[in-house]
Amino acid sequence: YEAKLQNSGYQLFNSDIIDTFNRKLDLENELRWAIARNQMFLHYQPQVNAESCRMEGMEALVRWNHPTLGQVPPGEFIPIAEESGIIMDIGKWVLKEVCVQLSRWLADSFDVPSIAVNLSARQFMAPDLVSSIRDIVRGTSCSPQQIVIEITESSSMNDIESVLPILHEFKSLGFQIAIDDFGKGYSALGYMKQFPIDILKIDKSFVQELISDSKSVVITKTIIDMAHGLNLKVIAEGVETTDQLDCLRKMACDIVQGYLIDPPMSPDRLESRYWIGV
Ligand code: C2E
Ligand code: MG
Ligand code: MG
Ligand code: MG
Repeated sequence: YEAKLQNSGYQLFNSDIIDTFNRKLDLENELRWAIARNQMFLHYQPQVNAESCRMEGMEALVRWNHPTLGQVPPGEFIPIAEESGIIMDIGKWVLKEVCVQLSRWLADSFDVPSIAVNLSARQFMAPDLVSSIRDIVRGTSCSPQQIVIEITESSSMNDIESVLPILHEFKSLGFQIAIDDFGKGYSALGYMKQFPIDILKIDKSFVQELISDSKSVVITKTIIDMAHGLNLKVIAEGVETTDQLDCLRKMACDIVQGYLIDPPMSPDRLESRYWIGV
């Protein structure tokens, strides 16, 4: 009986691996065509002042709508795009799209302070990253000051020697820089003083435990105080409840982003919620 159980367990395990493997191969093949076939689009999530709720900026988040696979979440396809190198093309497409959207909004007098774009660690390995991003922005009526580059704490700390000079180049061109998912990786605090950062984004795992876990309160408070001491703005991500918002306000968190305020949404919907006509 035991042998039989083990045997079936093994087969189950085995076919699971094959399914996962096939799904990954399918996604990778399909991903190569996704931009050309117009399957990619962007959603934007507002980032608002914690006190006044005025919009301070927004984050662009890529979406993939495949005709048969359906909506594939970024958590699933971004890692595949990174491994296969397709992230290079996706990254350029995202930035171009953001600049076109921002130019359109500004032309319509929809006063969007800035839009944040996520960059993967893999993109930092391309020798032409800075020049290609600079050229994309130059080709539009946007300026680098209106673009925030988000890089995760783990990818920035991973290879500090090569990432640091690139961040300085971005900074000298006028781009803003945000460290994403802060607190989730191994924070090498000593490097904080070398990094030309404008914004720290507290990882949503801390925000979501604010009410249930007193240690998360201490950690979040410490991150906010440190950031303010370094003259950085703090964004709390993943804010889902008013209790969390109240708690963040008490800690003097500058900006909040999360489902409580608004989920990521289409440009049309965002306009209808935030644009005050002139
Ligand atoms: P991220 O940059 O940390 O983005 C925040 C994620 O949290 C987004 O997930 C957003 O939809 C989600 N979120 C927002 N508010 C809440 C909330 O209140 N509660 C919860 N539980 N989640 C919330 P999404 O859109 O699925 O993206 C996942 C990750 O994929 C992003 O994490 C980012 O690392 C990556 N990603 C998304 N778009 C791009 C892109 O254009 N380029 C690159 N390289 N990565 C991207
Ligand atoms: Mg982000
Ligand atoms: Mg320009
Ligand atoms: Mg994040």
